[in-house]
Amino acid sequence: MPKLNLHRREGATALQHALTTDQFTSALEPKHTKPATKLTASPALTEKYVQQRWEKLALDSAQTVLFDPVTEQHMAAYDKNIEYFIGTVKVPVGVAGPLRVNGLHASGDYLIPLATTEAALVASYHRGSRLITAAGGTSAMLLNEGVTRTPVFAFYNLAQAGQFVAWVTTQYDVFKSLAQSTTEHGQLHDINVTLEGNHVYLVFEYLTGDASGQNMVTIATNAVFDFIMQHSPITPEYAFLDGNLSGDKKANSHVLRSVRGKKVTAEVHLTADLVRKYLHTTPEKMVQFGHMTTLGGALSGSIGVNAHYANALAALYIACGQDAACVAESAIGITRMELNKHGGLYASVTLPNLMVGTVGGGTGLPSQKACLDILGLAGNGKARALAEVAAGLCLAGELSIVGAFSAGHFSRAHHKLARG
Ligand code: NAP
Repeated sequence: MPKLNLHRREGATALQHALTTDQFTSALEPKHTKPATKLTASPALTEKYVQQRWEKLALDSAQTVLFDPVTEQHMAAYDKNIEYFIGTVKVPVGVAGPLRVNGLHASGDYLIPLATTEAALVASYHRGSRLITAAGGTSAMLLNEGVTRTPVFAFYNLAQAGQFVAWVTTQYDVFKSLAQSTTEHGQLHDINVTLEGNHVYLVFEYLTGDASGQNMVTIATNAVFDFIMQHSPITPEYAFLDGNLSGDKKANSHVLRSVRGKKVTAEVHLTADLVRKYLHTTPEKMVQFGHMTTLGGALSGSIGVNAHYANALAALYIACGQDAACVAESAIGITRMELNKHGGLYASVTLPNLMVGTVGGGTGLPSQKACLDILGLAGNGKARALAEVAAGLCLAGELSIVGAFSAGHFSRAHHKLARG
């Protein structure tokens, strides 16, 4: 009989230093003593409260670094972005590019600030960007836009759920004007209904202008939700503002074929000479690698297939004041590499969930706004261009990493750059 592979069982490693029952109990049981440190009751951002928090933390060395004079000077700017403020974390920023983007909204050579603590990351995007630029740039097309909020209503039975839906379909104009009353730039442009048993999900989809829009759609949907709760001819047994159908900050298969935020596709044709010069490999080898890793992605159950969109997007989002947690859905998409009819490489990326904005959220904070300024994409009228640049950046990273694996340089580059 084959031996059981016990060391791979959950908990086997952590629990191998077997504890007695008493030891388990005393380690894991709830403790009701008062916490040693109690922070300020108020979350407010004022000089007084910040000082009080540091007094509680009592760590001068940390205070010097986190609450430095520049942070102190700009403190008021963070008021609407953070609670229980104590300072700022400094994330190193590098610049990659220029990346030439020939898009419907982005047009030109972009220098792209990337905030990360990961060695080799900026170097990789820089190399990919230079390669794309040498090829004349990436063509990029914004294909779709939309951000959803999805309230959910529970009824006693299907008959009530059905009556509710019948009423809802007569109210779309009312819902639209209610939503519109909360926002100047947001626009409720679609409403869908999904039933599961006696639960009804309403899918409200918005255009959010230049904001990434999560707050905007929440506030607008809340106005509609309140109206429904007051005026529905069938009173729900219970209801919630969001039923988790929106895909907010979660990877999910639905959004691969629809949109959350902005959907963009970008492509480039590279000659074999350019591939050799910049990546030290061949289009054939890169296509081979692409085939094998696409299968690997399928075997691993990945949603979509790409090499590392998350690296580009996390670094770009942190630098430019985007909600970094949205990398969860934004980093879903498909990379494809093929030989073109000239023996060169065709490469494309398609990202259906780019949650980016150039106003609102963290985009107006001092260093985040400075990074958007480097891109030339701060403020009104720039969000679509930012989405196309983000897709181009992802393409640059896919080319660079696939090139590195194909040339056998991947480990070497990390060893050299991260370990010196
Ligand atoms: P926001 O800063 O809350 O709202 C954007 C603001 O910019 C609105 O007041 C909007 O006014 C104004 N605005 C001015 N010019 C605009 C333009 N050209 N286009 C669009 N808006 C313009 O930002 P948000 O994008 O709605 O929300 C993003 C933030 O929400 C992120 O920081 C994210 O972390 C957070 N978030 C919230 C939730 C949630 O459920 N509440 C969930 C996840 C994340 P009008 O509305 O009057 O047009």
